[in-house]
Amino acid sequence: MKNTGKRVDLIANRKPQSQKVLHKLREKLKKQHFIINDTNPDIVISIGGDGMLLSAFHKYENQLDKVRFVGVHTGHLGFYTDYRDFELDQLVANLQLDSGAKVSYPVLNVKVTLENGDVKTFRALNEASIRRSDRTMVADIIINHVPFERFRGDGVTVSTPTGSTAYNKSLGGAVLHPTIEALQLTEIASLNNRVYRTLGSSIIIPKKDKIELLPTRNDYHTLSVDNSTYSFRNIERIEYQIDHHKIHFVATPSHTSFWNRVKDAFIGEVDE
Ligand code: NAD
Repeated sequence: MKNTGKRVDLIANRKPQSQKVLHKLREKLKKQHFIINDTNPDIVISIGGDGMLLSAFHKYENQLDKVRFVGVHTGHLGFYTDYRDFELDQLVANLQLDSGAKVSYPVLNVKVTLENGDVKTFRALNEASIRRSDRTMVADIIINHVPFERFRGDGVTVSTPTGSTAYNKSLGGAVLHPTIEALQLTEIASLNNRVYRTLGSSIIIPKKDKIELLPTRNDYHTLSVDNSTYSFRNIERIEYQIDHHKIHFVATPSHTSFWNRVKDAFIGEVDE
């Protein structure tokens, strides 16, 4: 039997429409001699929305150099999804012609050091946000070794360029083109008055710089990394940097059109 040699994993959410697309697409791929493989694929296809692509990213976050992602959306438009559910034949045809071309975007690396010396590391495709569970969060923020400000408020997010259109945007952060290798630090409801002062605006930090956050009140903090949430007691510091690995998407003509995605998602049609 002819074999394309390409190993493909398909990951779908539980919605009936996504399950339908999953079965249809799996059959179409098998018919064209792709190999279905859910541990060591070359290409990962997520079916659903952005949340599903985030889950697919986290499933393969330790194999980022080996896999390329494709998103199929079954609901409303997504930021990480290139194909609609009625474009499966086009997707399979493109994958047959695919020669390995990719579009790559930066990923965030988060290192949490606890007071007892334990270290946890995470990768985020969109962002990591930190909040204090019950009371005002107070934390020193250090940017590239410069003690920058003492933050008081609900919390902060650090987002990637592709994550800049997600939670970061709801907080008033800027939209950053994903070819710009930078992180964005954005405040969540900072206290600003004559006593307490933060910069207030979001800050774009270049690839070489590191952001450190040191909570001054030790208690429970909630760390959200994309679509997962963790609770930590007694955090000594959190370090944020651009990861050594990037996420790679299978290059498609539509994937490069970031400004079209932003327009479609947030503006819609403009009256002439
Ligand atoms: P969800 O089901 O709550 O969906 C969040 C929405 O964010 C969806 O409409 C999704 O399409 C959209 N989204 C996700 N990534 C995006 C991106 N990079 N650019 C533009 N829109 C994007 O949660 P989920 O699907 O599990 O996604 C988790 C994400 O939700 C988090 O990474 C965070 O960015 C976002 N979020 C946003 C807010 C907010 O805007 N107030 C609050 C919490 C989480």
